[in-house]
Amino acid sequence: MSFDFDLFVIGGGSGGVRAARIAACEKGVRVGLAEEDRYGGTCVIRGCVPKKLMVFASEVSHALPEARGYGWEIDQVRFNWKLFHGKLNEELNRLERVYRNLLKKAGVITFDQRAKVVDPHTIELANGEKKTAQYILIAVGGEPEFPDVKGIEFALSSNDMFQFNVLPKSILIVGGGYIACEFSGIMNGLGVQTTQYYRGEKILRGFDDEARGIVTDEMRKRGVDLKCGVNVCEIEKTSSGLRIINTQNEQAKFDAVMFATGRKPKTMGLFSEDLSVELGKKGEITVDAYSQTRVPSIFAVGDVTNRINLTPVAIHEAMAFINTVFRGNPTPVDHDLIPTAIFTQPEMGTVGLSEENAAAQGPIEVYVANFRAMRQSFAGVDDKSLLKLVICAKSRKVRGCQIIAPQAGELIQLLGIAIKMGATKEDLDRTMAVHPTIAEELVTMNVPTRKT
Ligand code: NDP
Repeated sequence: MSFDFDLFVIGGGSGGVRAARIAACEKGVRVGLAEEDRYGGTCVIRGCVPKKLMVFASEVSHALPEARGYGWEIDQVRFNWKLFHGKLNEELNRLERVYRNLLKKAGVITFDQRAKVVDPHTIELANGEKKTAQYILIAVGGEPEFPDVKGIEFALSSNDMFQFNVLPKSILIVGGGYIACEFSGIMNGLGVQTTQYYRGEKILRGFDDEARGIVTDEMRKRGVDLKCGVNVCEIEKTSSGLRIINTQNEQAKFDAVMFATGRKPKTMGLFSEDLSVELGKKGEITVDAYSQTRVPSIFAVGDVTNRINLTPVAIHEAMAFINTVFRGNPTPVDHDLIPTAIFTQPEMGTVGLSEENAAAQGPIEVYVANFRAMRQSFAGVDDKSLLKLVICAKSRKVRGCQIIAPQAGELIQLLGIAIKMGATKEDLDRTMAVHPTIAEELVTMNVPTRKT
């Protein structure tokens, strides 16, 4: 049977663009791609990239006291959101053009419209046109999920945080995950009076308990009014902003309210009902280790599968899909030991198991260095750093590492390689330290802080 394309990708985000581009570079592979919104997807347009640029912008306010501590006389400083926002938009437009050009250069035929899968080999575009393909790859990502709260229509999602014409004077951020905690740091750093409500006891559930505690303390020290054990019951729009009633029956007023209470896969209306692609509880596409759905010609990668919702994971899954389908090299995706950074202020990097999870699996040794680094100490800035190693007492392998420090994301990326290669505590011990750095503690801690 002849098809219009060898591969048709739905979704022009990190996973979809990577798969389409690489497939199109394989000899004789004809690739189509449909995207209903902007190219680059969540990561480039309304996620990691603009978020990180806002982190950079907001961190400057924290660098100012440090600069004063080093003798810089800084008088009047003011953040100009309009100026920054204009540059941010220009940068996103540039990146979108880059993504489009990458596809064009690789020979991918793009369709700037929504697409739906109508049978195992057929896609229907929003204009009614149909395209056939031997393989279909779904990479449509996810979208913010809002709880059922009275007045929720007045709340913003993370998508809106890049769109302010004027920064609000005060904001309430709801949630305790990556997105809520990162935006609390950003807004606070930009000078917005920031309150965060988290319904649980401690933010960043699932991460190492000690690290969560330090991030909590440091966020509060920097000015975020973080309230745990509190949630929103009702939002009301008034002439002067938004009035909140919370679970403690208190009222508070904010200029803006942002909910970061999770994301859900964007599968609504994506498949004809008679297709046997299986969806999970949240609407995620069920796939096997090769990202293949129950329909053999249909694969899915990235957040739409709700495995590990991170950009590099989607890209990795896309590459494994290419190897499996177009290079005759079946490649299961390895989701173990993924290093990740949470761009809170302070930044946190983590790989492997938390102390609690490692301890539940067997005897461990824990090495902790919790200190004020040289740079901050000299400046009289009270920032704490944490370097923490969790070692399996039997195999001596590093089971987990937590870093809270400036550039923790950069540090964890590098240590992640060693840990993925199976580094033991003794491997770290025989590595010479780089002095004077924060990271040198990783190879100089020689007495366990505790054994469990
Ligand atoms: P998360 O699932 O990480 O966190 C959701 C938060 O909202 C949790 O604190 C949860 O509380 C809380 N919550 C859920 N439902 C409600 C409710 N009804 N009322 C109040 N609070 C509620 O989602 P995010 O939106 O923060 O992030 C989504 C994904 O995006 C993450 O999984 C991550 O993979 C990815 N991401 C990664 C980043 C990075 O790599 N730096 C940055 C940003 C996002 P509870 O803990 O009690 O369940």
